[in-house]
Amino acid sequence: MRITNNSNLPAYWLRYAQQNQYDKGPAEVSVTGLLKPPRMSAMETNGSTPPTVDLADLMPSLLGNAWHEAMQNCMGSDAIIEKRFYMSHNKVLISGQVDYMAPDGNGGWELHDHKTTTGWGLVYSDFEPKQEWVEQLNLYVTLLERNGYYPVSKITVGVMIRDWIPSKVGRDKNYPESMGSIMDIPVWDKESRDMFLDRVVGEYLAAKEELPECSPEQRWERGHKWQVKKEGRKSAIRNFDTFEEADEEMATRQERHPDWNLYIEERPGHSVRCERYCPVAHHCSQWTEIQKRNQEIET
Ligand code: SF4
Repeated sequence: MRITNNSNLPAYWLRYAQQNQYDKGPAEVSVTGLLKPPRMSAMETNGSTPPTVDLADLMPSLLGNAWHEAMQNCMGSDAIIEKRFYMSHNKVLISGQVDYMAPDGNGGWELHDHKTTTGWGLVYSDFEPKQEWVEQLNLYVTLLERNGYYPVSKITVGVMIRDWIPSKVGRDKNYPESMGSIMDIPVWDKESRDMFLDRVVGEYLAAKEELPECSPEQRWERGHKWQVKKEGRKSAIRNFDTFEEADEEMATRQERHPDWNLYIEERPGHSVRCERYCPVAHHCSQWTEIQKRNQEIET
């Protein structure tokens, strides 16, 4: 991956980022790659243009790397730490690096993962493990199973809130009370794990044949609205997430006020992932189109 330094951050930060790039070994795709939008992972692995990301946008993941490194030296002597495993599914070689696993005392294994996140990220997920963590760790269970480590009886995640602000505790009743927590992750049954693996590999392979579009959710789209507006009034009457909802509202209001001149206006939102966190954005035709369309709407 090419790392730019557009904000002119310290050269040693750049070196750290370059030295700590995720290495998926001889695998075609990593478990985390399989959990990205299929368009993104297919473009990342096709090798035609190197994925590119700016150092400033990598900072959260660099903090996560440093946290992983710090934890490596503190695990029990019977633990397996930061070990990469491989499995093949539908002829795709997949890798995944397990943070920490240890015998559960009953002939099986406990799997543990270190995560860093934001305070509001935890609030929005209702203090439950994020869905992507549940999916990633259950794919690791299959990876371990196929490498002879089974059963996995328990999965936990140690969560560090990288932007925790003590003064917010108590002032906002939802804000996390501590900078760290531990969460249990449900272990899916074998059938659910196999079906999930089959689905994500299938989507990845299909995307290699024909690139699908990323959905608004996959692009982390925020703030895109359809506004019902009235001629002569500056602010919108109401905002909606979809055109259909706005259209219905306009029809209802128009019936009640036949003399009003109502119309619908689109207000472009932000595709946060495309703007800052997608390493293939610089050569993604979908993102180019979105930017072009947003510009047209705004002018
Ligand atoms: S730039 Fe946006 S649309 Fe293109 S692959 Fe990345 S996330 Fe998807």
